[in-house]
Amino acid sequence: MTTESALDTARSQLRRAVDLLQLSENDWQTLSTPRRILEVAVPLRRDNGNVEMYKGFRVQYSTTRGPSKGGVRFHPDIDMNETVALAMLMTWKCALTNLPYGGAKGGIAVDHHSLSLAENERLTRRYTSEILPIIGPERDIPAPDVGTDERNMAWMMDTYSVNAGFSVPGVVTGKPIVLGGSLGRTSATGDGVAISTVEALRVRGINPEGATVAIQGFGKVGYWAAIALENLGLKVIAISDVNGGVTGFESVSKLWAHFLEHKNLNAPGTQALTQEELLHLKVDVLIPAALADSITEKSAPGIKAKIVVEGANAPTTPGGDAVMSENGILVVPDILANSGGVIVSYFEWVQDKQNYFWTADEVKQNLNDIMMKSFHEVEEMATSNKVSWREAAHMIGVGRVAEAHRLRGLYP
Ligand code: NAD
Repeated sequence: MTTESALDTARSQLRRAVDLLQLSENDWQTLSTPRRILEVAVPLRRDNGNVEMYKGFRVQYSTTRGPSKGGVRFHPDIDMNETVALAMLMTWKCALTNLPYGGAKGGIAVDHHSLSLAENERLTRRYTSEILPIIGPERDIPAPDVGTDERNMAWMMDTYSVNAGFSVPGVVTGKPIVLGGSLGRTSATGDGVAISTVEALRVRGINPEGATVAIQGFGKVGYWAAIALENLGLKVIAISDVNGGVTGFESVSKLWAHFLEHKNLNAPGTQALTQEELLHLKVDVLIPAALADSITEKSAPGIKAKIVVEGANAPTTPGGDAVMSENGILVVPDILANSGGVIVSYFEWVQDKQNYFWTADEVKQNLNDIMMKSFHEVEEMATSNKVSWREAAHMIGVGRVAEAHRLRGLYP
């Protein structure tokens, strides 16, 4: 168990960036304070007629560089502190990738597995209605995260549009294609993780062809990263989900087919792994793509991977970071590695604004261009300042937000 919370982690990473950039105490005050925090009660009428109350959150951490942007998470453990931490990370991620956005995050403390489809829809719509006054295409644009997907985005878009009196596709991203979603959005975060992985292997002088990979998490990020990496010729040798991991599967798509049919990863011929065994496998690349705080000062010493590519948000605590740095492991930080999702969300928002839709190839090419540019900026910053890649990524992101604050000035 670690005592470091996601918010402590995010604040200590920000403090480090502020110090490295030699920003002022005024800057620290401004950058370390969320702009707007909303907690709402979300009542749900269950299918059996009972009414239950859930806590919902929306945090707009920053709107300095544009409307705030960030996912909606349905998970029993989320609370305000974690939502603030994730909204803060979104702020630096959007700035690092130079998207014209601030950062946000939201969600409901609920186990989405416990909801029927109709209950999930009612809960999503009521949550949307509760946060309606502060969201909108020019204000704050939600997207899917853990426990939500394009169905939830369709209901959010519909609830907002019904209240507006006309169709407003740009209020959320990660929508179904027929409602104004973008080609390539579903796989975008995983595709970006794959781009980061291949580039990190180049930096370490390892041939991607046949390089071995272990992935923690087999959801929207883990699955699509695994597929993309396999298509690029890497060998994904282990995958886990909330119930544990497996190795020895023939291919990611065969494991996925088994998962869809049986709702577990124990396909014939596979061997079970604990989460810890997966983290400690001798692989070239380890990809945490589940939840926060999986790499800690306790789990990090056993990691044998040469590279860690953070598909999840905040999967590493400062204690875990220190151990990996001492052991010479290259860590590609979350705000760079998993930025493919928000990059293609940005493309979706742009397409919705223009009512003009791009081809899959255009999306892919533009995603690749932005990811590569950000990757090289972080590599260059880390090398020239002799800092870790996380410190370098935060220096770029935090530095851009601080500059925007300075240029806008303080009202009144
Ligand atoms: P998801 O709900 O689709 O999948 C989560 C996966 O993690 C599932 O396979 C689940 O079984 C597994 N999991 C949950 N708890 C676990 C545990 N304790 N150990 C191992 N596995 C566990 O969520 P997602 O959208 O894939 O998001 C995963 C992470 O990536 C989150 O940190 C999220 O914030 C981050 N992220 C997501 C996106 C996106 O576009 N979806 C973008 C950037 C970052």
